[in-house]
Amino acid sequence: MQYISTRDQKHKFSFEDILLKGLADDGGLFIPEFIPELAENTIIDLLSKDYQNITFEIVKLFAGDTFEVKTLSQMIDDSYSTFRDERVTPLKNINDKTSILELHHGPTLAFKDLAMQLLSRMIEHVLDRKKKRASIICATSGDTGGAAVSAFANKNNIDLYVLFPRNRISEVQRRFMTTNEAANVHVISIDGTFDDCQNIVKALFKDKNLSDSVQLTAVNSINWARIMIQIMYYFSAYSQLNDKSDKINFIVPTGNFGDIFAGYIAKKMGLSINKLVIATNKNNILEKCFKSGDYEISGVIPTISPSMDIQISSNFERLLFDLVGGESKIVYEKMVDLGNHNKFKLDNNQLAKFRASFEAESLDDSETLEIIRKVYLEHNEIIDPHTAVAMGIQLKKNYDKSIILSTAHPAKFPETVDKAIGKYPELPIANGNLYEQEERIISKNNKINEIKEYILNNYRK
Ligand SMILES: *Cc1c(COP(=O)(O)O)cnc(C)c1O
Repeated sequence: MQYISTRDQKHKFSFEDILLKGLADDGGLFIPEFIPELAENTIIDLLSKDYQNITFEIVKLFAGDTFEVKTLSQMIDDSYSTFRDERVTPLKNINDKTSILELHHGPTLAFKDLAMQLLSRMIEHVLDRKKKRASIICATSGDTGGAAVSAFANKNNIDLYVLFPRNRISEVQRRFMTTNEAANVHVISIDGTFDDCQNIVKALFKDKNLSDSVQLTAVNSINWARIMIQIMYYFSAYSQLNDKSDKINFIVPTGNFGDIFAGYIAKKMGLSINKLVIATNKNNILEKCFKSGDYEISGVIPTISPSMDIQISSNFERLLFDLVGGESKIVYEKMVDLGNHNKFKLDNNQLAKFRASFEAESLDDSETLEIIRKVYLEHNEIIDPHTAVAMGIQLKKNYDKSIILSTAHPAKFPETVDKAIGKYPELPIANGNLYEQEERIISKNNKINEIKEYILNNYRK
């Protein structure tokens, strides 16, 4: 399998290249040259396997022989051995139309662990083979950072830099990053929003001198390998359904459009998905684009589902490539528009394509609290505010058979859950002493140069 950039389809890259680069030099995102379509019996066979074996088969499709069979299956086993449920992503039935896919049984209680655990092992393995080091940088809206810290701590050929928006993430989210003692982990609080953090990361990558001299690698959901590793749980969810006769909707709490884009790939591969529902909070740039065709950036509004407080939905560029008929030149032009005017427009044809596979809705904070309360009272389940956004949209729209992606454990947002149900959700036993541990935080202004200098000063040859 070869890869191209969404903004330039002439150059081809290997899986190993894009794993280490993350973002293309032209600012575009890497995508596979084509999406493998699976025959019906290949899918039936895949759906009979466990999570680890589904993962193995799908990685093989997208990474070819980048990893030896033994290495790959060892990496996969190691990645998911610490998860608190044997099925890795268990499916829970809520009623005859709705189930919840729990993606929060990993070490830092959010779905980001699923991809990050395996991604870190893939990167470490490739670096070892090439006898190279890398500096990993990521911006986090709260959960990516913790997942990255847990996955990359103490990897000896890697330094990790995490940028998070100061005072805009929950205490538990922050503590998952700041209480790790590994010397290769640098957690930096930025005086700004998530979009500011993401813009710093993008600017550092554009700085060719820096990115070459410290081997910058991106592990945000702009890294294709993360999207790839998230395809698995759509298959795993389907395999856990009792009745597989109907096409199913997936309702996905969305910020950067990464998780839901993985579902779109699963659909293109042939999994029997009806609609993918974009579920957002009041930062609903995607819902507005879906309803009007205008993709227009405005200011970020802080909400009680902070991991979705995003206005620049980076992975949407990958879908855009499909919507414009795979013409990288048109993607490039639209991204120039976005850079200059903070907006671009989808024409009717592109919009019709968007609407063929997706739906989009949003929920406000008071509705979200209400849903946490309702689900607790009626089903005795405590859900986190991100999951509640998706659940609320299902209750409002009453879609046919649907799976809600539960992207975080409620204990990651204890204050919000307490506000809804009058009680604090408990941390899993393994994370029990999180509040007692000491924190380490580096503070920086929202200035590219400050971060650049810090990385250069800390680079170890
Ligand atoms: C990251 C995150 C999201 C949004 O995922 P995207 O891939 O950015 O769309 C939703 N919920 C939680 C809890 C998250 O951590």
